[in-house]
Amino acid sequence: MCGIIGLYDKEASWAAYRSLLAIQHRGQNAAGILTLNSKFYLKTGNGLVTEVFNGFPLDGLKGDLAIGHVRYPTSGDNPLGESQPFFLQYPHGLGLAHNGNLTNYLELKRELRAKERTLQTTSDTEVLLNVFADELLKSDPITSLEGTMNKVEGSYSSVILLGQDGGKVIAFRDPHGIRPLVIGEKDTENGKEYMACSESVGLDVTGYELIRDVRPGEMVTIKRGGIEFDQIMEPKPAHCCFEYVYISRPDSIIEGKSVYDVRFKLGENIDFSKDVDVVIPVPDTSRTAALGFALKNNLPYREGLIKNRYIGRTFIMPCQKYREEAVIEKLNVIRKEVSGKRIALVDDSIVRGTTSRRLVTLLRKYGAKEVHFISSCPPITNPCYYGIDMSVKDELVASKGIGDIEGKIGADSVTYQTIEGLVRAIGMPRSKLCLACLNGEYPTNLSCSNAECLSRNRELERRNMKI
Ligand code: SF4
Repeated sequence: MCGIIGLYDKEASWAAYRSLLAIQHRGQNAAGILTLNSKFYLKTGNGLVTEVFNGFPLDGLKGDLAIGHVRYPTSGDNPLGESQPFFLQYPHGLGLAHNGNLTNYLELKRELRAKERTLQTTSDTEVLLNVFADELLKSDPITSLEGTMNKVEGSYSSVILLGQDGGKVIAFRDPHGIRPLVIGEKDTENGKEYMACSESVGLDVTGYELIRDVRPGEMVTIKRGGIEFDQIMEPKPAHCCFEYVYISRPDSIIEGKSVYDVRFKLGENIDFSKDVDVVIPVPDTSRTAALGFALKNNLPYREGLIKNRYIGRTFIMPCQKYREEAVIEKLNVIRKEVSGKRIALVDDSIVRGTTSRRLVTLLRKYGAKEVHFISSCPPITNPCYYGIDMSVKDELVASKGIGDIEGKIGADSVTYQTIEGLVRAIGMPRSKLCLACLNGEYPTNLSCSNAECLSRNRELERRNMKI
């Protein structure tokens, strides 16, 4: 998962910077902005948005068209060389920022190399850019994107900044619309300005009004003072349910659904019958679900775990070692709320089990009498190949069943959300959701060899990063 933006705005670099700050939770590994007036200007780097642009004069990124990116790596083994947007001089000058994961990028890479295209990184984003650039040599942007979509598989919500005809931003989503992407507009004295962003919070902070989501398989072209919509591929929606559970900000609206409302309902939907004294959320993502759960069950809600805000999200850290260390440093306990209590501990999910086990251990250390673990997400039993870093099945604690899950994380009991409860909370037909990590039904073409390759590759990349 990453965050992307693309916009036409008289203050493009400033608006891009502020929007990237709003979606920083989608990736903390690297950030970048590419702008265009009559020339391209690019600034990328490793770290948080504020670190990358610290002391950097934003007015040096000239122009009124821009794309930007915050990165969280799910492919690629070089954290220092793969910050986005990627840029090619030819044809026309074009840059691309991508959120998702191409499942056939290794095959495509071989094809591109056979055409003597030079690829400098191990990133699937560079592959996507080169496939599009290759098509653009033969045709117009619409036909080129259609050609690209016919070749690439997997998930891709992306933005392209294209120098052709004075410049334009192209925003598009794969035919399943797996990762989110919304469009907004703003009335100014110079006419309308437009922005595409991974989440609606990026529009809110810059004064844009949400128009709607980019449709699955759709291409949206943002030009100076205008916007065009072209349906390139037949939509086959399969929106990622994990965006609602964990990834997106609660103040975002995705596919017309408030993430806050969904999380509240996730809490309400959990069937629970143990006697407990208090409900404690794992901050921050689980607060809303814990509140819904506590109110539904007439239980007191207390903040028993306090988070150090200056340590990043543990789940999106690129390796287990970083995640484990960060959990220890990130959370501290309010002893009075925990000691001697039977606790219902609500977390958004149990992925590898490491974080959950450490949380339970921490609460017991501070005197908790019982810890009943509640996951607002159903058991995660299958890998994700679409841009969430859980592509290695053996790492998932529930991949072989949840028979001894209590023992594995050290809790007195574990209660999971059901898939039905999750679908009901999102309020969308089940057929329009990707639930593959919960039920193994992948919405895209995914050959066994591709899936195995992706898992093996990710393990190797982590080893190359010594993580
Ligand atoms: S497999 Fe799971 S995490 Fe991945 S896109 Fe589908 S629902 Fe989201």
